[in-house]
Amino acid sequence: MALRLFDSLTREIRELKPSQGDGVLRFYNCGPTVYAAAHIGNFRTFVVNDVIRRLLDRQFGASHVLHVRNLTDVDDKTIRRSREEGRPLQEVTRHWTSKFHSDCAALNCLPPHVEPTATGHIEEQIGMIAALERRGHAYRTDDGSVYFKVSSFPEYGSLSRVKERELKTGSALKTASADADEKEDGSDFALWKAHKADDGDVFWPSPWGQGRPGWHIECSAMSKKHLGPTIDLHTGGVDLLFPHHENEIAQSQCCNGQLFSHHWYHSEHLLVDGKKMSKSLGNLYTLDDLAAKGFRPMAVRYALLAGHPRKQLNFTLEALPAAEKALTTLRTFRDTLPATGGDPTALASVIAALDDDLNTPGALGALFTRINQGPAGLDRATFDETIHLLGLVLTAPPAAGQDAPPHVQELAAQRWAAKQARDFKAADLLRASLLETGWTMLDRKDGYTLERTKR
Ligand code: AMP
Ligand code: ZN
Repeated sequence: MALRLFDSLTREIRELKPSQGDGVLRFYNCGPTVYAAAHIGNFRTFVVNDVIRRLLDRQFGASHVLHVRNLTDVDDKTIRRSREEGRPLQEVTRHWTSKFHSDCAALNCLPPHVEPTATGHIEEQIGMIAALERRGHAYRTDDGSVYFKVSSFPEYGSLSRVKERELKTGSALKTASADADEKEDGSDFALWKAHKADDGDVFWPSPWGQGRPGWHIECSAMSKKHLGPTIDLHTGGVDLLFPHHENEIAQSQCCNGQLFSHHWYHSEHLLVDGKKMSKSLGNLYTLDDLAAKGFRPMAVRYALLAGHPRKQLNFTLEALPAAEKALTTLRTFRDTLPATGGDPTALASVIAALDDDLNTPGALGALFTRINQGPAGLDRATFDETIHLLGLVLTAPPAAGQDAPPHVQELAAQRWAAKQARDFKAADLLRASLLETGWTMLDRKDGYTLERTKR
């Protein structure tokens, strides 16, 4: 079976294939801007991309997938944050990069093979801008900035169909100028931004004077450096489709004279009360916010996968207890399976749903349908391989009642294990022993708590 994904450029669901002779699938995923904790909307995109990565690894072999995800560590937002905090830019971005990494690990997202930074690729960006200028696709302005000349690239707008939209509304290209990286008087966008006072000590020398790269050029430069001029898959959240990805295509194709990406995939937004979860609206949850409410990152991952990646998903806190419950069902079901000896195709329907344009809710549905048929014919090896594609980790939530003495906790753990194994006789005996210690075990669906027995 082969992974098929919707391609935003051709608007068709297409199979992914390595386009080069070495058989390596080249995959670029636009990464986070590291100036604050990523929220679970951002993580929806990264979790979805993690499932893509896992499916690619499975199909082409892990040694034949090259996954690059960048870090945007210089832009208006990162600079503003460093000024507000009176800390050097690098200190701010390093802090939030390491937070991003620990959150990714908590969500069990595989690290990309290369994680380049914008500030680590200034030379490459300058090189591309210079090439664009030489080829007549860029021009300088009086202040020492450089802009991409959109009219020099007739294909501009093919990804977002921005010209069609403009015909309808007369305003699509103008909307782009609301972005700080866009030139005020039209659709041309900044490749190089001349140094201004607000940038403080954040600037680099260039053929155009001191300044810093515009946002869009970093992905064109890093993608080329680490994956070559033509890649097989480029992804990001749907808000990146225009203008970011449209601009990346223009920059890369005008500079390299060849196709930039064979396939474009965009996942939809996570919403709160019908609005995009975003830092600017302040309607966000981070993993830490949710942990403070008692929800584990794995429950968040499950809840994010429960929605179709190409449909908006409205997030509510109620989704999380349901996710915990589903994880418990998966874990306890797994415990009933023999290690091997089952039908290796027993969960083919789950994988088929994932391969079918990443239908994650369909895959979870197929999984539970199979679970409801009981463990016969299924083994842990096949189950684990399938769960691995979803990236779920099925460990028990930590038991509450940590203040109970160790021998009480030991009894409780034994009783819980007996109950999971459906050995109710042993579980009842252990409950009786527990009562004698002066502690009571309160069962919940996904675990238990220990409380002193009331007299
Ligand atoms: P940023 O850190 O703002 O550059 O965003 C990182 C990634 O998160 C990008 O791929 C965005 O498209 C994506 N993203 C931002 N907000 C949301 C959201 N509410 N739901 C899903 N993805 C999002
Ligand atoms: Zn990008």
